[in-house]
Amino acid sequence: MVNVTKYHELLQETSGKATLVAVSKKKTAEDIQQLYDLGQRDFAENYVQEIVEKQPLLPKDIRWHFIGHLQTNKVRSIAPFITLIHSVDSFKLLKEINKEGLRNDRIIDCLLQVHIATEETKFGLDESELEELANSKELSSMQNIAIRGFMGMASFTDDTSQIRKEFKVLRALTERYTKLLIANLSQPILSMGMSADYNIALEEGSTLLRIGSLLFGER
Ligand SMILES: *Cc1c(COP(=O)(O)O)cnc(C)c1O
Repeated sequence: MVNVTKYHELLQETSGKATLVAVSKKKTAEDIQQLYDLGQRDFAENYVQEIVEKQPLLPKDIRWHFIGHLQTNKVRSIAPFITLIHSVDSFKLLKEINKEGLRNDRIIDCLLQVHIATEETKFGLDESELEELANSKELSSMQNIAIRGFMGMASFTDDTSQIRKEFKVLRALTERYTKLLIANLSQPILSMGMSADYNIALEEGSTLLRIGSLLFGER
């Protein structure tokens, strides 16, 4: 069941500031269709298995985002239709996406996932790895990927000052690496903020929110 009231509130809160992406992991195609019928077009999934099952069942103008940890051997199955991969966390993965972009004769938009949380279990590049990527000659030769910005997940904590601190780190890294890494010098996408912390994320300059449970209920 979609929380229609919350959806309209979120649309107002993000209007003119950020793209609202609905995280539909573990939700059915019917749930997604319900939100689609209210006008939502951006949906995100965490698991390759789920996204490839749901995508063919739903309208073709949905913009599908991939936000989960992505293994190189799974890139092929999402490459034909994915709008934006938020979770690029290695050069090896970027190379694989480029290869599949070429095979599908398209340019695949990507975000670099940055590790900003205190938890070791979360994925993402650290600053030295961003630096390495920015200095790589091979990157500029990749014709079938476009780096559009950065994604991060804050720590799972009630400490809002900690969350804010982590978002500030991501924002600062975005500013530092935009010139070096962002395709066509376009305005970078800053994908940060989930159900529990989206208000802080908006205050700290997020341009894209990934919201699941507020829209679809608990998983
Ligand atoms: C599940 C998930 C979300 C959405 O989380 P909610 O707390 O349900 O809003 C956002 N981003 C990522 C990477 C996720 O895995």
